[in-house]
Amino acid sequence: MKKLFCILMLFSALVVCSCSDVYRYTDYSFFAMDTVITVTACENADFEGIEQAAKQTERLMSRTDSQSEIYKLNAENTASLSQPTAYVLEKALEISVATDGAFNPCIGTVVSLWDITSGKNIVPDDEEIEQALKYTDASKTDVKNRFVAEYGTYGKQAVEKFEAVSEEGIQVDLGGIAKGYSLQQAYEKLKQDGEENFCISFGGNVAVYGTSEANAKSKQKGWRVGITNPFDTEEIVGTLLLEDGIVSVSGKYERFFEKDGKKYHHIFDPKTGKPSQSDIESAAVMCSDGVVADALSTALVVMGSERAKEFYGKNLYDFQYIAVTTDGKILISQEIYDIFTLNEQAKNSNNKKFTVEKIS
Ligand code: AMP
Ligand code: MG
Repeated sequence: MKKLFCILMLFSALVVCSCSDVYRYTDYSFFAMDTVITVTACENADFEGIEQAAKQTERLMSRTDSQSEIYKLNAENTASLSQPTAYVLEKALEISVATDGAFNPCIGTVVSLWDITSGKNIVPDDEEIEQALKYTDASKTDVKNRFVAEYGTYGKQAVEKFEAVSEEGIQVDLGGIAKGYSLQQAYEKLKQDGEENFCISFGGNVAVYGTSEANAKSKQKGWRVGITNPFDTEEIVGTLLLEDGIVSVSGKYERFFEKDGKKYHHIFDPKTGKPSQSDIESAAVMCSDGVVADALSTALVVMGSERAKEFYGKNLYDFQYIAVTTDGKILISQEIYDIFTLNEQAKNSNNKKFTVEKIS
């Protein structure tokens, strides 16, 4: 089971609501998508609606739930998909191409081979890894859409239908992107509902809007989102001050097991079939699209610092990032740099202060 500790620690759990003249503060938590989800908003916000939507996304996209669309695709190599699953899978395949395979939604055979959170702590041998890698070619999975005529309220209508096909043996795993979708949905819903201040935390994915209680008290705007120190998960390396935004963090410290003094974590390099050995311990991506943020944070960890910088320079997606490297640096792109405050106390693996490097 996922370590319940959030990657992002939110400094303020309370929101100042302007829904009435009375200030009310509510935290609403539930468990879905293998993580604790916490929504902080005005007390009459539609918390249940968000919970239901997240659970529905999990039912559609889970790799392990035998009722899900992805389970059916993996078992039968073809499945009709609902619009949300088709959207997320298409986006995942697109990002897989854009990241040159660093993000790979067809990594399922590798993920289940290692089974990082099972408690078995077994390191597979090279032959098993080779075998799993044979079924990870993302170009062999496709989503097709077509329009069919159906009778609806206004007579005959063209309705879009989606179908996924996959080569035999491929196991789609949307674990690195589905939470971002769910977060985006929740964020849009609360905004549409007219909520003026809220924070939604989906494990490592966080969306904030408006102002936290702590900031309101000190006449500041926005929320402070803390970025966990991967070398000491009890502390943060710094905070981001945000009034409206989505941040997704992926870190090697999140889910792992230890064997013979070595750590084996849950972010796999699709080229080797092993936990990524890159020089990035954790990466946070800020992007207006929660789906992109989630997938890219996973991808940047796999890429490592040089490739991540190159990818950022290509401008394929409009995003900003902050990465903590194995040798204790904080690499940070301009727009995040402008809203980042370093925790001067935080220490890296060499027990030294972090150094901050701007990426241009
Ligand atoms: P995240 O916590 O968003 O970084 O996602 C990690 C999860 O995504 C893992 O638990 C796997 O289910 C899946 N995953 C692991 N490695 C990759 C990868 N290279 N590309 C896509 N998904 C991955
Ligand atoms: Mg991710």
